[in-house]
Amino acid sequence: MTSFGSEKSSGFPKTLHPETLALHGRELRRSAATPIYQTAWNEETQANGPAWRFGHEALDALYPSVSNPTQQLLEERLASFEGGAAALAVASGQAASAICVLTLAQAGDNFVTSTGLYGGTWNLFANTLQPLGIEPRFVDAADPENFCRATDSRTRLYYAETLPNPKLDAFPIREVASIGRAHGVPLVMDNTCVPLIVRPFEHGADIVMYSLTKYIGGHGTTLGGAIIDGGTFPWEAHAERFPLLTQPDGEHPGVIWTEIAKPFGPIAFLLRARFKQLANLGASISPFAAFQILQGLDTLAVRMERHNANAVVIAQYLAKHPKVTKVHFPGLQSGEIRRRADAYMRGGHGALVGFELRGGAEAGRRFIDSLKLIYHLANIGDTRTLAIQPAATTHSQLSEADQLAAGVTPGYVRLSIGIEHPDDIVAGLEQALSSA
Ligand code: PLP
Repeated sequence: MTSFGSEKSSGFPKTLHPETLALHGRELRRSAATPIYQTAWNEETQANGPAWRFGHEALDALYPSVSNPTQQLLEERLASFEGGAAALAVASGQAASAICVLTLAQAGDNFVTSTGLYGGTWNLFANTLQPLGIEPRFVDAADPENFCRATDSRTRLYYAETLPNPKLDAFPIREVASIGRAHGVPLVMDNTCVPLIVRPFEHGADIVMYSLTKYIGGHGTTLGGAIIDGGTFPWEAHAERFPLLTQPDGEHPGVIWTEIAKPFGPIAFLLRARFKQLANLGASISPFAAFQILQGLDTLAVRMERHNANAVVIAQYLAKHPKVTKVHFPGLQSGEIRRRADAYMRGGHGALVGFELRGGAEAGRRFIDSLKLIYHLANIGDTRTLAIQPAATTHSQLSEADQLAAGVTPGYVRLSIGIEHPDDIVAGLEQALSSA
């Protein structure tokens, strides 16, 4: 049992649609529901783990401690659903972002990241990685050439959110991926806000990551994160830029990740992420959490349809409301930003809707305090509709200038539209807006 390559995962043809691949995995041959292997250690993963076949004892000892069979089934399903070569499931989206960067960069290196980031990711980059000597270079993705301008010989990756939360301007994946190809820099896309709607690998991204806590888990019950390796980036062709993958690893004598990956396919990045970063940081996902996320993945496609449809109704309602000065929603955008949304999104524009109130920060606070049906929660991708004022919560640690760069004005309210009846969501908003 190993999740090392999609060709070894579900065994289903790649012609199946992602909606189908989200549901069908190898476990169906044994039982319709995924078994929960509630164990910290098991012989199966040890005996069949990759290190066994590498004949490498140090890795052999590590494998069962960073993996379990339920996790592996989740990884297989995610890899085939997203169209990647292999996946790694971890404890949270934050852990996934940290592992993505740490797999490629060390002190003295830098990476270029869009300013359109979730506040926790911004804090991870600016307040944990930067003090460790890994420099995040924040750029505005409105002009993709900003990625090119910020690149030098120590740049190890580009990082961005597909539909930046809370900014909600679709990221120019193809444009930045092609700048990355020219420089030999891989593009990591955080696709948390738009699973199924955007397929980053189809537009040139090399690595896709998710907070599984959001739409994929879908019910606001479980933390999880994932990293999916597209298997497309030619690490060896840019060996000087990626010594962490192409030079011997000091921790595991004799291991060169690009070499050790060869029997399994082009997944050197994912192997180092699993055996080095996940093993050393210990951010494993529990078997029960992996099971819960698999349950969510089963119904992702139908939930996304309803999320998408409800969001259109709410965005149109807000756009006509006299107390609302601006609505942020890709389906209501125009010009270049709309062109980008249409180029990358299909089947909908996602279910995050932002709006600004005529009365600014104070009106936003009154709106939040008056909510009844709608929850005041920082999460997104829940089945229930949620509301948050980012400047007072998720982005409160950022300076005002950094908040503005991330798209957060003081009165901005972000909604994560759920799957309730749309008329009831409208009524819930109307009720709270009457006090704003
Ligand atoms: N990425 C995005 C776009 C998010 O919105 C979040 C959380 O809100 C994360 C990553 C972090 O995920 P987690 O809460 O699973 O750590």
